[in-house]
Amino acid sequence: MSGRKPCVRCLIAELDYDEYTQSLLDYIKSVPADRRVSEEEYQRRLGFCRSCGRLLSGMCLECGCYVEVRALKPNAECASAEKRW
Ligand code: SF4
Repeated sequence: MSGRKPCVRCLIAELDYDEYTQSLLDYIKSVPADRRVSEEEYQRRLGFCRSCGRLLSGMCLECGCYVEVRALKPNAECASAEKRW
């Protein structure tokens, strides 16, 4: 971390990549247990994403979301028509 305050209204192109990545990981860790699926279900979902041709650098090309955020949500489902999870 550079010590700079995170820019909450910046575009990705304006952000420091490492800080942005870390802020995403921090967000994922911060989601409380009652608003996320179990770790077992989370890893099951991410397993499908890892083997999916629509995954690019952590982003789902079907919907543009970060799969590690999408897969956390209890009511979320795979963004493809095949509904892999
Ligand atoms: S959400 Fe579905 S379509 Fe997107 S990367 Fe994961 S498995 Fe693939």
